[in-house]
Amino acid sequence: MPAIVDASAETALARTRRARRIVRILGELHPDARIALNFSNPLELLVATVLSAQCTDKKVNEVTPAVFAKYPTAASYAGADREELERQLRPTGFFRAKANSLMGLGAALVDRFDGEVPHRLDELVTLPGVGRKTANVVLGHAFDTPGITVDTHVGRLSRRFGLTTNDDPVKVEADLVALIERRNWTIASDRMIFHGRRVCHARRPACGACGVAKLCPSFGEGPTSAADAARLIRGDAEAAR
Ligand code: SF4
Repeated sequence: MPAIVDASAETALARTRRARRIVRILGELHPDARIALNFSNPLELLVATVLSAQCTDKKVNEVTPAVFAKYPTAASYAGADREELERQLRPTGFFRAKANSLMGLGAALVDRFDGEVPHRLDELVTLPGVGRKTANVVLGHAFDTPGITVDTHVGRLSRRFGLTTNDDPVKVEADLVALIERRNWTIASDRMIFHGRRVCHARRPACGACGVAKLCPSFGEGPTSAADAARLIRGDAEAAR
C-alpha cells in the first residue's frame, strides 16, 4: 500500500516536483493520450469542440464528417440554412443552441477575423459559444500553443492530486499553469482526461490499480484492493467517450 501523501504539508517546490512526476508517469500509463475529436484544421476543431458540449466525443466524430463536408469555411456556417444545420446536429443534443453558436461563430469569424480562426486566447473567447476550455483545446491541438484545458476530469483529478483546492475551472487552470512546465500544458490535460476516463472515475476511482497512487493524497477514495480496483478499470472502447 503506498504511503499517503500529505498535500497540505508539502512545500511549493515539493508540490511542483510531484505535479511534474505525475504528468510524466501518466504519460507512461497512457501513451496514447491525445484529443479524441477528429479534425483536419482549426475551424473543424473549433466546431467539433463546440459540438462536444454535453455530448460524447464518439458521437461528435460520427456527425462531423458530413458537417465538415457541407460547411468547409466560416462563411458557410454564417450563411447556413438553419433548419438543415439543426437537422445535422440533432444527434449531438442541444442542436438548436449549437446551430445558433456555429452560425454566430461563422459570422463573427468572417466579420472580425477575415474568416480565419484566431491564434490568441483573448480573441478566441470573444467568439460566440467559445469559453476558455474550448479556446485552450483549439490553441493546444490546432495551433501547437500550450494550453491547459480544465474539463470535468482535469478539475476532479487536480483536486484529488492536491494540486488545487479550487472548483472554479479558471482558478484550477491558474494553479496548474504555476506547477507544470509550459511545454507540457496541453499533453498534461490530455493525460489527465485519459486517466480520469479509464482509472480515476468520479464515483469509484480504481485506487488499487492506479499507477500514480504513490503520488496521490486521495489514495483510498476508491477501492484499494488490486482485485476490486481492476474490475473498475475501463478499456479503450469504454473510455473513448
Ligand atoms: S485512482 Fe485513486 S490513487 Fe489514483 S489518482 Fe485517482 S484518487 Fe488518486
